[in-house]
Amino acid sequence: MSSGKNQIMEYLDLIRKFHSNLPVIREWIEKTLAENLDHAVPVINLGFPRLGKVFPLNLLKSAKTVVVNGKVPFPPLSRMGLPELAQMEKIPKAGITYKDTVFVSHIQHSTESLLFHELVHVIQWDRLGVDDFLLAYGLGLMQSDYRNCPLEQMAYTLQEGFDRQSLPDSVVEFIRRETDAIWASVASLFQRYR
Ligand SMILES: [Zn+2]
Repeated sequence: MSSGKNQIMEYLDLIRKFHSNLPVIREWIEKTLAENLDHAVPVINLGFPRLGKVFPLNLLKSAKTVVVNGKVPFPPLSRMGLPELAQMEKIPKAGITYKDTVFVSHIQHSTESLLFHELVHVIQWDRLGVDDFLLAYGLGLMQSDYRNCPLEQMAYTLQEGFDRQSLPDSVVEFIRRETDAIWASVASLFQRYR
């Protein structure tokens, strides 16, 4: 067997392992959200004026923020049997989003620009649903580094546009279309598990 083929087999094995770990990750997310529900604040309450200009009111009302004092919560992937993705646990993160809830590490990171970035993820989660978001995001991490994983790259590119005051028209529709395109490009890899 050529080493190239070995690499593909290892890669497919990692995809299979990640897929079979979805219920554990899902359970961790639900537990984390439930534990923090009491101090979750709707994004609208933060009073960021520019977010209201680019996102619809219902999104700002339904999306929530939790400010933690220290590291944002992250699933213990190495303990969950996914040491290959453990590098992600070590990357310092100012914010992270699970479903409709944005976790921000320290109050000083709670900026309009960061919230914008995380709200892009809220729309991606909503569009894909939990399993498909995790699969697309996890695959992106396997294929490239954190910053270049496609769902992350979209959020960073749009955040730069937000900072420069140059965003595409109807940004929510734009995010949904781009998210659909990312999923369409990877869906076939997961078909065998459905
Ligand atoms: Zn991000």
